[in-house]
Amino acid sequence: MQVIEPSFSILSLQGNIDDKFVESIGRVCYKSEHNITKSSASKFIKMLTERNHLAMIEHGVITLSVPQKLYTFIKQKNPKFFQMNEYKGIKDKQYIITGNLRAWKEFYEEYKQVINIIQVLSKHSSVFTFTKSQPINKDIKIVNTNMLHNFLQVDHIFVTVKFISNRGFSHELVRHRIASFAQESTRYCNYNKDKFGSQLTLIKPYWWNTSSLFAKIIWSFVSKCSEWGYKFLSKTLPPQAARGILINDLTTEIVITASLKEWVTIFKLRAAKEAHPDMQKLMYPLQKILIDKFPFLKDY
Ligand SMILES: Cc1cc2nc3c(=O)[nH]c(=O)nc-3n(C[C@H](O)[C@H](O)[C@H](O)COP(=O)(O)OP(=O)(O)OC[C@H]3O[C@@H](n4cnc5c(N)ncnc54)[C@H](O)[C@@H]3O)c2cc1C
Repeated sequence: MQVIEPSFSILSLQGNIDDKFVESIGRVCYKSEHNITKSSASKFIKMLTERNHLAMIEHGVITLSVPQKLYTFIKQKNPKFFQMNEYKGIKDKQYIITGNLRAWKEFYEEYKQVINIIQVLSKHSSVFTFTKSQPINKDIKIVNTNMLHNFLQVDHIFVTVKFISNRGFSHELVRHRIASFAQESTRYCNYNKDKFGSQLTLIKPYWWNTSSLFAKIIWSFVSKCSEWGYKFLSKTLPPQAARGILINDLTTEIVITASLKEWVTIFKLRAAKEAHPDMQKLMYPLQKILIDKFPFLKDY
C-alpha cells in the first residue's frame, strides 16, 4: 500500500481535437497509457466509437466559423450541446459554433444529407471520414478561440484538467453536469497487477497532520484490511467484484473538460469554504491559474 498527495495538471487551455489528445484521455479509464504509440490514436478512437464509448470523444472540442445559412439551419434544430454565437466582426457578421466531437458527430449523422461540415472536421480528427464524393464548403473555418472577445471566450473556450485524488473527490466532481469526464475504472483496473505495483495507492487524508495517532492507526489498519481483502478476492474474481471492499480514499484519476463558464460555476461551489477540504486543496490553486490566464473570469 502506498499513500500519495492529491494533485492536478492542466491538459489543455483551449479546445483540442487532436487524435493523440483524445486517446491520452480515453486511456485514463483503462490506465493503458503505456500502449500509446506513434500510430495507436486512430485505432483507439475507432475502438471507442465502435463500442459507443462516445463520452471519451467529448474531450475533443473545436470552434468553427460557418456561413449564416448553415448557422441558421443548425440553430433551428436547437442542438443541446453546441455553444452558438453571432457577432459583428471587423468586416462582416461572424457566426461561430463550438462543439465537442460527439456533438458534431451526432449532429452530422442526423443531418448529413443537408450539411457539409465533414471535410474540415476530418482534416483534424479520425472520428470523421471524408470521401471525395461529399460536398465541400470552403466557407467553414476553424476559429482560434484565444482571438475572440472575452464575452465569447467564456462560452467557447474549453479547459481540460486531470485530477488525481480520492473516490470521494471524484464522486463530487461528476455532479457538475455541463462537463465531460473520463475516470480510471475500478471495473477494468486490477490493482493486483504489476502495473499498479500489486498494491493499492491511497490519497493522504487531509486531516493526517492535525489528528490523533489513534485516528491514523485506525485509518492505516482499515486501509491495509481493504488491500488484503482486495488482493485475496481478485485472485478468483474480476476487479468489478473485488472493488466492493475498496475504501473511499483509493486514488483515482479523473479528467474533466468544461467551458470557462462551467468552471466559474465549479469554482463558486468547490473553491469555497463550505467545500470539502480535498476539493478546496485542488480547486483554489486551479482557480488562481485560470484567473491569471483569463483575468476576465474575476467578473463572473
Ligand atoms: C458544499 C456542498 C454540499 C453538497 N451536498 C450535497 C448533498 O448532500 N447531496 C447531494 O445530492 N448533492 C450535494 N451537493 C452537490 C450539489 O447538489 C450539486 O449537484 C453540485 O454542486 C453541482 O452544482 P449545480 O447543480 O449547481 O451545477 P452544475 O451541474 O455544474 O450545472 C451548471 C449550471 O447549469 C444549470 N443546470 C444544469 N443542469 C440543470 C438542470 N437539470 N436544470 C436546470 N438548470 C441546470 C444551472 O444553472 C447550473 O448552475 C453538494 C455540493 C456542495 C458544493
